[in-house]
Amino acid sequence: MTNPANEMAEIHWLIDVLQSVDIGLTVLDRDYNIQLWNGFMENHSGLRAADVKDKNFFETFREVDETWLKRKVDSVFLLKTHQSSTWEQRPYLLKFKPYRPVTGKSQWMYQNTTIFPLISSDVSVNHVCIIIYDVTDIATGKKELELANNQLAQLSQIDGLTGLYNRATWENMLRSELIRCRRTGNPCSLVMLDIDHFKNINDTYGHQAGDEAIRVLPRILKFEKRETDVAGRYGGEEFCVTLIDTNAENAKIFAERLRKSIENKTIEWEGQEIKYTISLGIAELNSEIKSHETWLQKSDQALYYSKESGRNRTTISDS
Ligand code: GH3
Ligand code: MG
Ligand code: MG
Repeated sequence: MTNPANEMAEIHWLIDVLQSVDIGLTVLDRDYNIQLWNGFMENHSGLRAADVKDKNFFETFREVDETWLKRKVDSVFLLKTHQSSTWEQRPYLLKFKPYRPVTGKSQWMYQNTTIFPLISSDVSVNHVCIIIYDVTDIATGKKELELANNQLAQLSQIDGLTGLYNRATWENMLRSELIRCRRTGNPCSLVMLDIDHFKNINDTYGHQAGDEAIRVLPRILKFEKRETDVAGRYGGEEFCVTLIDTNAENAKIFAERLRKSIENKTIEWEGQEIKYTISLGIAELNSEIKSHETWLQKSDQALYYSKESGRNRTTISDS
């Protein structure tokens, strides 16, 4: 048989546990007046149980979304089952400071919340208990991981030396552009370009000077092209640009402007002056080009013609 003294002791223990457990507990009545407020709630809100007893929850904590919480609590009263909400759905119920406001990475404590009905001896439900779990470490960890993954995904699309799209990414974009132009009927031109006699630059000034020479080109390219044009590094010293809504004639104006800018540029490298030129090939999309590979071939053939006929020039594909 249980002895009343033991029962009293157990109740005291339970109250102690409730006070010191590392989760937030509060009990609200049907009018949203606070009936219980444990140690966790006291520590994080700065309000003692005696301060909030019988106070209205929404009047005491203005940050709480009243409509949202009432909808949740109404359904707990009605269905007599619990309701939960995660930090991903709603970052917090109460605006508590996290445990580590300085070394931590979040300004507020992320919270998971569970509301469950407190059933009286006559089986009626007139109170709900709200439990708040501090999930700040999990939430910030997950957010950091997402950020790192996004950065990684971006990095894997970018060429390290020039900051332009790498070949695979640029080709995917070209494929999409071809499909888009087929649908809209808008013109689009592809420009391929290659630095002339680049081996000589490496041989004369060294590989590092060659790298710097490669880095200079996209800087000029970015300046000359439109925001919507898509530039990539196709290979070593070969670059490609998709000129959106541009026919071959206008693409040539861009190509010649770029060619002259590069011709006029002097690169300073360890006290030496490096100059180079580029050759370019243009292919405007037409009904005979069925794939992005064919489109590339056309501009490459035009580029080859520029090389063969003396370099430092632009050729438009004639088919
Ligand atoms: P042309 O195009 O006018 O026919 O002559 P080229 O000398 O430029 O010929 P080619 O395209 O065959 O040679 C390109 C050279 O570019 C070969 C390679 O060593 C060099 N190269 C490729 N990638 C890089 C790079 O990232 N850095 C440096 N420094 N050199 C590179
Ligand atoms: Mg070359
Ligand atoms: Mg080349």
